[in-house]
Order: sequence, then C-alpha cells, then structure tokens
Amino acid sequence: MVSIKTEGNKSIVEFKDTHNTIVNAFRRVILDEVPTFAIEDVEIVKNDSALYDETLAHRLGLVPLTTDLSAYNLKSECKCGSVGCALCEVKMSMAQSEAGYVYSGSIKSEDPAVKPAFDTIPVTKLLDGQEVEANVVAVLGVGRTHAKWAPGHAFLKENGNAVDLVIESFGQLSGKDIFNKSVDVLIGKIEELESKL
Ligand SMILES: [Zn+2]
Repeated sequence: MVSIKTEGNKSIVEFKDTHNTIVNAFRRVILDEVPTFAIEDVEIVKNDSALYDETLAHRLGLVPLTTDLSAYNLKSECKCGSVGCALCEVKMSMAQSEAGYVYSGSIKSEDPAVKPAFDTIPVTKLLDGQEVEANVVAVLGVGRTHAKWAPGHAFLKENGNAVDLVIESFGQLSGKDIFNKSVDVLIGKIEELESKL
C-alpha cells in the first residue's frame, strides 16, 4: 500500500508492509536518475559585474528550472543524435543594464513551461553603468551527472509499521511528479533486466 501527501515543496510517500530496501531503491533513483532541466551552455555576451565569467556561468547552472518531462528528451537519447534540437534544448537569455542585483527572474525562456522556478535568486550584482548579457541553453540531465540536475532531497523515515519516503522538491518538478518518474525509471530498469534474462 502506497499513499502520497503533499504540502508545499514537501511530499511524503507512505509505504505500508514494504521493506526499507525497496523504498531505498526509489530514493536512489530520485537522487540520481529523475531528470530535470538546468542551464548547461552559457555564452557571455557582456559581463561588467564583479563575478568572473566562469562563476557567473556556474551560478546560472544552479538556478532550478521548472521542468516539463512530457515534451522533451534527454539530449543523449534524442532523435537529433545529441546535436541539440527543439526537443532536447531550451534557449534562454538574460540581460540587465540597471544597477543592483540581477535576479533569476531576468532569465527569459523561449518556453514558458521551462523557466526559473523562483524569480528572486541573486545571480550577480551591477554597479552604475555596468551591464550583463548572456545567451544560455538549458537541457535535461540527471543528478548522477551533476547535482544541479537533482530534483530535490529524498530520505527515509520510520513511521510505526510503515516507512515514509520524504521528498523535498527544489522546484523543478512537484513531489508527486518526482515520485511518479522514479516509478517509471525503476519499471524501465526491471524490464531491461527481464529482457536480458
Ligand atoms: Zn534533440
């Protein structure tokens, strides 16, 4: 028996009459293999801010992006042969010339379904007369490759005769979507194993 409860960014999946090792398999799939979008390629057009280009690019990579898993492929599994196309990449741009903080909200995406999950994450800061401009590409990836693609925290908690899988989303996907995707990934693994036996 499995039931799911969600409050804010936290979802609790309660497993009854299940061994911890089974629940732990979901936890590991969530951390390593549930894909989300993150900024991967950064072209800096202008950067007068105090941050080095590399630091600015790194900070952009860590901004959580809302993720639509139904419309996109992992680049490595895309029909374009990993070249990059509208089915595996989302283009975004960021530009600001006013002094003050440059927030994640200044990143404009070509797809409204894939955009910064929060608008108030500081990316860099500008003084009077300074400008920043960048063109970026976001792609789907998994936490096993880089933590920036991890969809959230996941941990186990004993709860009487049940085990709770606690999922804290970073904002790219809902807790329910994270869990559902982990089920798909695990089923895929079992089918692959079955086909090899
Ligand atoms: Zn593609």
